[in-house]
Amino acid sequence: MFIEPRVGNRQQAQRRGWIEVICGSMFSGKTEELIRRLNRAKIAKQCVEIFKPAFDTRYHDIDVVSHNATSIRSTPIQFANDMLLLGSGCDVLGVDEAQFFDEAITEVCVHLANTGVRVIVAGLDMDYLGKPFGPMPALMGVAEYVTKVHAICVQCGDIASYSFRKAASKEKVMLGETDSYEARCRHCFQEGLKGNF
Ligand SMILES: [Zn+2]
Repeated sequence: MFIEPRVGNRQQAQRRGWIEVICGSMFSGKTEELIRRLNRAKIAKQCVEIFKPAFDTRYHDIDVVSHNATSIRSTPIQFANDMLLLGSGCDVLGVDEAQFFDEAITEVCVHLANTGVRVIVAGLDMDYLGKPFGPMPALMGVAEYVTKVHAICVQCGDIASYSFRKAASKEKVMLGETDSYEARCRHCFQEGLKGNF
């Protein structure tokens, strides 16, 4: 369980920023962990802002909604750069579905952290082919803290770190994830790619 190095309040003379990354497959609890950390910051009376890609409208336009329906209000944005304008005044800035943002998100997060913002980024570390997803590897590289959360393989019950796509579409971004994907361990993911099960 991640424990914050500090959850100081705004009255502190000097704000210190840093970057946290929460990564993992689908159904691994990334968004739940993001919400948990942001809610703790709210309890500490910190100013919290949450952003997500504008096209991620699976459940709701405004809320970051996780699969178990704990939700928190968020602002949909189109470009990572939008966070500079909208998020620079807050203490803690959360980003959900970060894998869908452009590469500029890494530089944006570094800038925000350098100027005293605690940045918490959640996203898929691998796509449906098991390849590193978008800006996530770079974000992990510049983060002080990286937490990899795991799902359970629906085929065998082992620890799962892959998102296996059951549907045939070749598009990387596909909405309606619960029907189209399942969490799998390395072995069952490989078997699935071969078409065995
Ligand atoms: Zn398995």
